[in-house]
Amino acid sequence: MAAVFNQIAIIGVGLIGGSIARAALEKGAAAEVVLFDGDAAALKRAGEIGFGKPAASIEAAVANADAVFHCVPVGAMGATARASIAAMKPGAILTDVGSVKGNIARDWHSLGRGDVHIIPGHPIAGTEKSGPDAGFASLFENRWCILTPESGGAADYVAATNKLAAFWTALGSKVERMDPARHDLVLAVTSHIPHLIAYNMVATAYDMEAVTEGEVVKFSAAGFRDFTRIAASDPTMWRDVFLNNKDAVLEVLGRFEEDLTALRKAIRNADGQKLFDTFTESRRIRREIIDAGQDTATANFGRDKPKE
Ligand code: NAP
Repeated sequence: MAAVFNQIAIIGVGLIGGSIARAALEKGAAAEVVLFDGDAAALKRAGEIGFGKPAASIEAAVANADAVFHCVPVGAMGATARASIAAMKPGAILTDVGSVKGNIARDWHSLGRGDVHIIPGHPIAGTEKSGPDAGFASLFENRWCILTPESGGAADYVAATNKLAAFWTALGSKVERMDPARHDLVLAVTSHIPHLIAYNMVATAYDMEAVTEGEVVKFSAAGFRDFTRIAASDPTMWRDVFLNNKDAVLEVLGRFEEDLTALRKAIRNADGQKLFDTFTESRRIRREIIDAGQDTATANFGRDKPKE
């Protein structure tokens, strides 16, 4: 295929940045990939793996790029964008992969470079692993990528958004455009609160372990093991998600607490019908997710890293 971009820059060469770089080269979506990371060891490792050309500075990485992908934790997006935007060429695209969109969009649109197209984005794909070795080219296949462009942009901004969408499509993603606030509410439900619950469940079990002398770990059944996988996700990334999506997370958490109270009441009142109905509905939703191709019913949910 003809490359969508001649050159892209990846700032942050971890799981997501490394996967974009690998996929872009493997699928021919970019002719050239230039890399930068604040962590010198990670940048060196990315160069050794060979999914792009390491640059000496963030300015050098973005200077000739048609699109710059910021793939750092959400809390670092402001700093990396500020450090790089002045060195970008006119007409280039400034984008990201952060798990929260409202704060980044607000901050970036105030950066004052009208000749750079600012189009925040978020691929809904990932694993609990981090770092340059964790990425793989097929990560985005059949996964959604949400773009949150400004509404009512000029014709060249719309064309840039379409080009960025074409890039993600070339990586195998399905692309949807969304308002940043809506993105943050939807993701609070589907990703942020589930992670918070997993972190809390593991913390509770850890406390219990002291009481049960190791039995929580020894007899951990599939339910708890699945929680521990989610709760093994990167602490920096998730700290930043909760600090930057505070309003939506607190709103959804309120709803969650009400539903939990209803389940607690059903257990106390021996209301088997309420429990059965709730669990039956959950099973139906799981089926819908598998039918929609958002997960598989295979062992380990098919999440083993594919061989490259
Ligand atoms: P990661 O594997 O930890 O990679 C992030 C890289 O960025 C690390 O090498 C990190 O270096 C580097 N970095 C941190 N601050 C920096 C700075 N100021 N300047 C330059 N480099 C910096 O993280 P990831 O999982 O790829 O996540 C990256 C982004 O993708 C996050 O915004 C996250 O919300 C989003 N995202 C993640 C997932 C997921 O499942 N993981 C899914 C979708 C979107 P250090 O290690 O030294 O900090």
